Amino acid sequence: MTTLKLHNTRTRKKEVFEPLNKDDVRMYVCGPTVYDRAHLGNARPVVVFDVLYRLLRHVYGPDHVTYVRNFTDVDDKINARAAETGRDISDITAETTQWFLDDMGSLGALEPNEMPRATQYIPQMVTMIEKLIADGHAYAVEGHVLFRVRSYQDYGKLSGRSVDDMVAGARVEVAPYKEDPMDFVLWKPSDDTQPGWDSPWGRGRPGWHIECSAMSYELLGESFDIHGGGNDLMFPHHENEIAQSCCAHPEGSFAQVWMHNEMLQVEGKKMSKSLGNFFTVKDLLDQGIPGEVIRFVFLSTHYRKPMDWTAEKAREARGHLGGWHRFKRHALSDPDQTFTGKGVDDRIVQALADDLNTPLAISTLFKIAGEAKMSGSIDSDETIRLYESLAFLGFEKLDPHRLERSNAVNRAIDTVEVLSRLRNDFLEARSQAMQSKDFSKVDQLKAAIADAGVEVRMSKEDVELVPGPDFDPAKLEALK
Ligand code: AMP
Ligand code: ZN
Repeated sequence: MTTLKLHNTRTRKKEVFEPLNKDDVRMYVCGPTVYDRAHLGNARPVVVFDVLYRLLRHVYGPDHVTYVRNFTDVDDKINARAAETGRDISDITAETTQWFLDDMGSLGALEPNEMPRATQYIPQMVTMIEKLIADGHAYAVEGHVLFRVRSYQDYGKLSGRSVDDMVAGARVEVAPYKEDPMDFVLWKPSDDTQPGWDSPWGRGRPGWHIECSAMSYELLGESFDIHGGGNDLMFPHHENEIAQSCCAHPEGSFAQVWMHNEMLQVEGKKMSKSLGNFFTVKDLLDQGIPGEVIRFVFLSTHYRKPMDWTAEKAREARGHLGGWHRFKRHALSDPDQTFTGKGVDDRIVQALADDLNTPLAISTLFKIAGEAKMSGSIDSDETIRLYESLAFLGFEKLDPHRLERSNAVNRAIDTVEVLSRLRNDFLEARSQAMQSKDFSKVDQLKAAIADAGVEVRMSKEDVELVPGPDFDPAKLEALK
């Protein structure tokens, strides 16, 4: 059996992976909060852990792996979105959940075995909170329940900080009812306009962290193998999950291996909704960039390294995938033949077995493609291995039509970049104008952007550039 090595955030080492039970390898990954389209950064953990899921299924057998990824469908950002739009919360969460599944499906991500939604697990959360109170790890006050951080000695071990450092450095919410500023919310009261459930502490709703503890316990048990997510979740979310789960179930040890992907960046900064420097997966798909291209670009960088999305990388990816697709017509007697990934080349498996070395797996694909070309015969073993390997890495649905629309794709990628650059220019010009009180440059820029059919939506802190129906990319080019 292939030996897997995975980097464990908890021990800060690459370790040989030994599942608790080879017949039931269990993985939990924190999923999205469903109030809006997923941005490209949100897709990174999905693709990273999809590769791991495929690898685990290959090594332990598809029926011996359970992958759980949640949907956070109760959250103040969702409430705010409902208030802004006048729509029902359940409509927003149902619609966004489906968008997420469709967009991630386009990137070749398999659906996890279980996709629990937080609102389906409220009774389990209440039970866990009651246990934490009974054992002195939490306290109820003014309709809130708070976790008593200092009751858990190992708090901070995952991210390697002491509680005192965290108090000094973190933006912890100080509230009069807290015993200690570090204590975090397990339950909070809801007013009539907010979603709420009856509980021993009155009508209220859960804090964010408790859902992952309750759902992973329910679906995977008190100890399981792998817990994943972006490294922005390490503190406080994952520290809090560990504290809740280990205190509520001291008989278990929660997750054995913690894996964290690094962030997707735009010009050196994390892509995030709050920074406004994001574009959605759907934006790229709508502009004609195939999901396979996005996936290929993601896999070209190791998951523990920050990665930049660039037009150049996407162009190259399209070129390689398009070439491999065209090669099918010459090298296979049936170019429409489908592949499952079962016959993957072992060098690819070995690359991934070394802490998901996807860049090495990609360069191995080039080697295999070279061998397939050299083989010179139709349906050669080498050629079959190439397409089996591509399928294993999640490129089983290579779509020739989409891949070959190269010019449209390149233009679309350029547009995304140009818009992002113009937005930065605009923000800079505006901040300079604020100081000099000379707004002529801002006005000129705004007029030129508007002339290209792009709406300029300004708020105090931000500016959004939204291409409208008369959008003319050629005019935008002139502004480059
Ligand atoms: P959120 O909806 O912000 O809670 O994020 C959902 C998932 O996306 C989490 O695993 C985050 O760590 C991850 N994530 C958010 N932004 C990025 C980014 N820029 N790069 C990589 N992962 C991200
Ligand atoms: Zn979580």
